[in-house]
Amino acid sequence: MATSQFVFRNIPITVVRRKVRHCYLGVYPPQGEVRVTCSPRYSETEILSFLSKKHLWIEKQLSKFRVQENRALDEMECETGDSVFFLGEKHTLGVLLSKRPAIFHNSERREITIALPDTQSKRAKHALLRAWYREQLQNLVPEMLRRWSTQLGVAPNSWTLRKMKRRWGTCFTHSRHIVLSESLARYSKECIEYVVVHELIHLHVPNHGPKFKRMLHHALPHWKELKAQLES
Ligand SMILES: [Zn+2]
Repeated sequence: MATSQFVFRNIPITVVRRKVRHCYLGVYPPQGEVRVTCSPRYSETEILSFLSKKHLWIEKQLSKFRVQENRALDEMECETGDSVFFLGEKHTLGVLLSKRPAIFHNSERREITIALPDTQSKRAKHALLRAWYREQLQNLVPEMLRRWSTQLGVAPNSWTLRKMKRRWGTCFTHSRHIVLSESLARYSKECIEYVVVHELIHLHVPNHGPKFKRMLHHALPHWKELKAQLES
């Protein structure tokens, strides 16, 4: 048995060669290791074409691992090296000592660095990250609201972000006010969009009945997938 490793479309792949008849593919816990088991006869080109065909499946499996790791801020220790999520992407957290609190995001390297005077205070770290998440959503959501308001022919009077325990959003139909959870910043733009669209449709239909489902399906045909990502 021989083991080798290479990178395929940014995904590290482990190849195990042993006497097996076919090519087998698996994504394994705890980290979501992608492993191909195949006969020593298989060439690298054959493995690559096999992986290309399975690319979507691999991404789907990996996203499940990412979702499992995507924990709420309150549950995080916030130490250097921890994983922290932003817009559905896993980032590595860095913690620095500095007089002034600041936060740096390097999207290319998938790093979020927080700098603050008291690096021991979990509360201070949470507060800093939370404020940053809110700021990012403040920048992101207005465009989504504008675009979907036009598309759906409804507009809220106002919207706010809030720390919410059990839900991702609420729509107060009488005041036409939409509240979104600040934790949405941990999820992909598509997931955030799903919540925005969901709450906007409530301005047409207050319940989750067939009319609501029809409009949602029309706006976002893959809404169930997005909902599942938020719920897992
Ligand atoms: Zn609803």
